[in-house]
Amino acid sequence: MAWIKEEDMKAIRAQADIVDIISKYISVEKKGKNYQAQCPFHDDHDPSMSISEEKQIFKCFVCGAGGNVFSFVQKYEKITFPEAVYKVAQWINYPLALDSIQIKEKKDPFEQERKVLREYSDYLEYELFSEDGKAALAALHARQFDEETIRRFQIGYAPEGKKSEYFLKAKHFGEERMRDAGVLNEGRAVFFDRIMIPIHDSKGLPVGYTARRLG
Ligand SMILES: [Zn+2]
Repeated sequence: MAWIKEEDMKAIRAQADIVDIISKYISVEKKGKNYQAQCPFHDDHDPSMSISEEKQIFKCFVCGAGGNVFSFVQKYEKITFPEAVYKVAQWINYPLALDSIQIKEKKDPFEQERKVLREYSDYLEYELFSEDGKAALAALHARQFDEETIRRFQIGYAPEGKKSEYFLKAKHFGEERMRDAGVLNEGRAVFFDRIMIPIHDSKGLPVGYTARRLG
């Protein structure tokens, strides 16, 4: 399976309007220069999500969800990054070669472990943009990682052990699955106080992590 070409991705992003695309999923209201919506990624009762037409990004001021048009579609539909690019391409009638992406997935023997890694990666990303992740985020910014890059590669932050353990256990994945996925060992979080860089397979799904110590 071929990866979507960088030039295609750039062209799709340039041609798609984030306000139009997000409006396909949720209702969006113009407020001054920007647009506002109720955030679909947390239990939102106010319009906490801001969408910038100018910058073509969205950001929720409560849960921290944010990114570009592809990140929104990926997160909302719970699909992979290439699938989201493909979907946006279809909406704007961008001629993306059909065989350049394989939407149908074969039965995956590691489906459960992947599910653990997918949810854990979302959690790590959330942590990076939270209060706990402040120092990690600053370290990434200092190394010229901008938010778009961070979101695209789903770079995250593993907080101190207890917090990760609490999150993982609350998900009820089962100890064995989490051990096989390499995130929990004998009830202990494998990664803590680390910048987490997921290693993705050709479909854009996390299969593991490289972790960097802070400082
Ligand atoms: Zn939110």
